[in-house]
Amino acid sequence: MYESIRKDPLLFNLLLEEIKRQKNTINLIASENIVSLAVLEAMGTPFTNKYSEGYPGKRYYAGNEFVDEVERIAIERAKKLFGVDHANVQSHSGSSANFSAYLALLNPGDKIMGLALDNGGHLTHGHPVNFSSKIFRSSFYFLDKESEMLDYDEIRKRALEEKPKLIIAGYSAYSREIDFNEFREIANEVGAYLLADISHIAGLIAVKLHKDAKSADVITTTTHKTLRGPRGAMIMCKEKHAKAIDKAVFPGTQGGPLDNMVFAKAVALGEALKEEFKEYIEQVIKNSRALAEEMQGLGYRIVSGGTDNHLFLVDLRGKGINGREAQEKLEKVGIILNMNAIPFDKSPPFKPSGIRIGTPAITSRGFKESEAKYVAKLIDDVLANKRKAERVRTEVEELCSSFPIYPELRF
Ligand SMILES: *Cc1c(COP(=O)(O)O)cnc(C)c1O
Repeated sequence: MYESIRKDPLLFNLLLEEIKRQKNTINLIASENIVSLAVLEAMGTPFTNKYSEGYPGKRYYAGNEFVDEVERIAIERAKKLFGVDHANVQSHSGSSANFSAYLALLNPGDKIMGLALDNGGHLTHGHPVNFSSKIFRSSFYFLDKESEMLDYDEIRKRALEEKPKLIIAGYSAYSREIDFNEFREIANEVGAYLLADISHIAGLIAVKLHKDAKSADVITTTTHKTLRGPRGAMIMCKEKHAKAIDKAVFPGTQGGPLDNMVFAKAVALGEALKEEFKEYIEQVIKNSRALAEEMQGLGYRIVSGGTDNHLFLVDLRGKGINGREAQEKLEKVGIILNMNAIPFDKSPPFKPSGIRIGTPAITSRGFKESEAKYVAKLIDDVLANKRKAERVRTEVEELCSSFPIYPELRF
């Protein structure tokens, strides 16, 4: 694989370095994963050469007979996996999926309501710097300050005050289960649409280890997080919104689909329908719990006291280190994660009080609970200066070499 890229040594070298980096570091970034070799190969196929504006059976250009079949398969697999009426598999990314969903349901100037960014929401849920607040009017709900969890009575109050046209449920940094049916009731009470953005938890919902989001009008999800597919996204919805969603993706917000990525989405959705994928997600959750409990045992405060899913936040206040410093220190020993605001963080976003830890990628390379606990100990060794960085770096590399990724890729 990749031999032909050798002709451009500058880039070939960067590719090798990146592969080496991924092999030799522990990836705890909650939004990342390690795709199967099949998905990896599927992305680099001649499907990238095709233009397919439109949908299966209704394309603007000739030559789409096989692309049509591929896209139909991707759609059928998505519908089966999530038990939905309709799926659009053309969205290029989670952000553009949300853009399309808003365009389908709203008019410019309509009000949306999402969880505030520093409480775990996403930029596209109404943040001031994002299109979502420039085209629409944004309003927010918040976690309960004590429990650091969703409080549906408070959300209902906020919704009654703000009267949004669209409520968004689904987050980037929330470690607890979301009850989409509660949101459905609130949305019904205020006459709002409900959008479930399941980007982070799609893999869990797919195997029924998280409550489903079928009561939402529209469901958006990335395909590259817990779902372990290629980069990209999908939009699913009830039949009554199907036409509006398809029109909002093309021609509303996108041109031609990335047919190679649609092909890879179909491959990944096929994998997610297999029994092994359920076992994988079970282990993701077990690893997340084990890592969080071990951190707790080592004296770290876990936001909301624990986790129900693939991620959690660690509050570093009182540890003499902020999130940015922790991220940088850990990067030096090959533990890769991201700084993150904790709910109601008083520190600025460039040096927030926490870090986010996720287990999708380490589980994909085969880590179980004992390795997850070992990782917690390594993190503490670094953050609490218990051992020399070089020693920890060596142990990180040893651990990584016992759980190789892409052993097929040798150079
Ligand atoms: C990751 C994420 C997105 C955006 O996905 P991109 O592909 O990075 O645009 C949207 N919503 C939520 C909740 C996310 O976590």
